[in-house]
Amino acid sequence: MHWPPEFGKVYMMLQDGFSRRFHYLRLSVTEACNFRCTYCLPDGYRPDGRKSFLTVDEIRRVATTFAELGVKKIRLTGGEPSMRRDLPAIIETVANISGIDNVAMTTNGYRLKDRAQQWFDAGLRSLNVSIDSLDPRQFQLITGENKLAEILAGLDAAQQAGVRKIKVNTVLLKNLNDHELSQFLFWLKNQPIQLRLIELMQTGEMDARFQKHHQSGLPVKARLLREGWIQQSRDLTDGPAEVFSHPDYQGQIGLIMPYSKDFCANCNRLRVSSVGKLHLCLFGEEGVPLRDLLQVDEQNSELQSRILQGLTHKRETHFLHEGNSGVTPHLASIGG
Ligand code: SAM
Ligand code: SF4
Repeated sequence: MHWPPEFGKVYMMLQDGFSRRFHYLRLSVTEACNFRCTYCLPDGYRPDGRKSFLTVDEIRRVATTFAELGVKKIRLTGGEPSMRRDLPAIIETVANISGIDNVAMTTNGYRLKDRAQQWFDAGLRSLNVSIDSLDPRQFQLITGENKLAEILAGLDAAQQAGVRKIKVNTVLLKNLNDHELSQFLFWLKNQPIQLRLIELMQTGEMDARFQKHHQSGLPVKARLLREGWIQQSRDLTDGPAEVFSHPDYQGQIGLIMPYSKDFCANCNRLRVSSVGKLHLCLFGEEGVPLRDLLQVDEQNSELQSRILQGLTHKRETHFLHEGNSGVTPHLASIGG
């Protein structure tokens, strides 16, 4: 809230029935992707001819309204955001919205090497790059693409371009990359990045693969503590991650364990899908449609009301433990 408040102006903020506040929005800009990660789109992206993704103007309107409701950080995600030709315009539009102090993006790194500078110049300040293996063959086995070297070069390019907050997302996968923890830790010695180890989450289209590849983060946590890593106190922006540092390492580890107790207590994020639906939880409901209120700027206060009304339905926790992943077929569909 601005202080002192302007006379006569009503300030609303995003807070749910469990006193959780939301300063962070994940905004999906496309469902399309060029990778075939085994746990997400194993058969590749299949375009649905009827779907059209939010335009730059619609993105501006939704992002502006969330900023007015107190959102400070917006992460562009997908699908693969770099599939959008107008991505630089999207970044610039969001970065110029009053109140937004951090534009972040999650990417598979495909175009990073060539585009990092352009994206930084447009206003991108934080980047999560997904790298599930540091072994090129294993990387290809998991993602369907032989591109590890190119993506690592992309990380360097992002650092050179000036992006200071860089994280690497790695999904923990039994029998696929769980033997690589030592290699990842070795890599972090001289890499000033945060490696986010994410437990595999079960989604609607995931069958036996979940049972086969789900690996709990708890043994990883136990090993880190044994080896002198120190758990950090939670930052407002960490959300549900447990973060660990070590005096001998430039990098950090962030563990994301959605099946652990109290995971949802620190939920600090809302999502808008690439077709303009508000999702209160990654594993929630159908979503609240917002797109009809993104057509002209004058719809802004109606849009605020719909968002605030929608938020009253946010549940305390997901039901993943019961194998219930809501309507989410895979994370590309809603923006992971
Ligand atoms: N295409 C981009 C990428 O891969 O970084 C952005 C979208 S992707 C859905 C966002 C993140 O979700 C990635 O780090 C990906 O590894 C992760 N992810 C996808 N499906 C997942 C699942 N079932 N469980 C855990 N993480 C998942
Ligand atoms: Fe594409 Fe990202 Fe899903 Fe992999 S995790 S298939 S890169 S959307």
